[in-house]
Amino acid sequence: MQITFWGVRGSYPVPGAATVRYGGQTSCVEARSTSGDCVIVDAGTGMRALGNKLVREMTGPKQFDVLLSHVHWDHIQGLPFFSPAYIPGTKIAVHALLTAADELQQVIGGITRHEFFPMPLESVPAQFEFHQVEPGVEFDIGGFHITPIALNHPFGSVGYRIDGDGDSWAYIADTAPFTEVLHKQHFLSGPEPLSEDDRTSLRAMRDALMRRLQGVDTVVYDTHFLPEEYVRFPHYGHSTPDQALEICVEAQVRRLVLYHHAPSHGDDQMDQIAAMYLARGAEVGVEVLTAFEGMTLPIGPAAEGASESTVLGVGVT
Ligand SMILES: [Zn+2]
Ligand SMILES: [Zn+2]
Repeated sequence: MQITFWGVRGSYPVPGAATVRYGGQTSCVEARSTSGDCVIVDAGTGMRALGNKLVREMTGPKQFDVLLSHVHWDHIQGLPFFSPAYIPGTKIAVHALLTAADELQQVIGGITRHEFFPMPLESVPAQFEFHQVEPGVEFDIGGFHITPIALNHPFGSVGYRIDGDGDSWAYIADTAPFTEVLHKQHFLSGPEPLSEDDRTSLRAMRDALMRRLQGVDTVVYDTHFLPEEYVRFPHYGHSTPDQALEICVEAQVRRLVLYHHAPSHGDDQMDQIAAMYLARGAEVGVEVLTAFEGMTLPIGPAAEGASESTVLGVGVT
């Protein structure tokens, strides 16, 4: 199994001179099994280039499965520009959180209403299906075994542990650390005080995450903020590399990939972040890589001892 990063940013796309090396597109990762099965995690603007590649590979009608963490803009905005959707006979199955999926058809239909986009969802040649996922309720897609994991983000989010080819990786975005309840907080007014029930739910959420991460080879984690930024915006629903590293050390994960980069972090700052956390990870026995657009990573024992030299670049267009 291998994974490829088609979009690594959070919040909004930032293509430009300052983001040439790490990329400016928003969240989208492709997982590939050795038998060629594919699953797409999140549908940010990086999904457009992925779609173009998939169309070039297609030899006939095909089904694509898209796992959504949640339906914030930076995780769905690529869907209307996913070119396989315009090929008759294509099926696109979108899997999302129970609460979001209740209205998912409306959400996706909403962003393609005629005011916003020239072709409404019901006119798209591909057949769309919507599936609700529930944290802890596992399911299979092709050769992949999928485990949804509840995360701590305003109005909810879900991560995924993905097992395939005898190996596993996890996609943990978007999430804040497990010290504050976010879904009941107001974006502008900031955090509300925690009740004892809130603390209990957060502990349970963290415990469940730790159980699901046991034995996982590679964890891709929302590390949007640096620690000095996080203290100013603890209620935005994102983590720092330090918080992700703490989780990975405790779960004895081999490799952490920093992901969902803040749009304000240009290439030079990203280089500093990558170097700083590679060194910090080495001190505690976790290999820390920093995702860039076009990065392909082999998952599992075959990648044992991997370093940046084994990271494969792909041509993202
Ligand atoms: Zn996001
Ligand atoms: Zn979000």
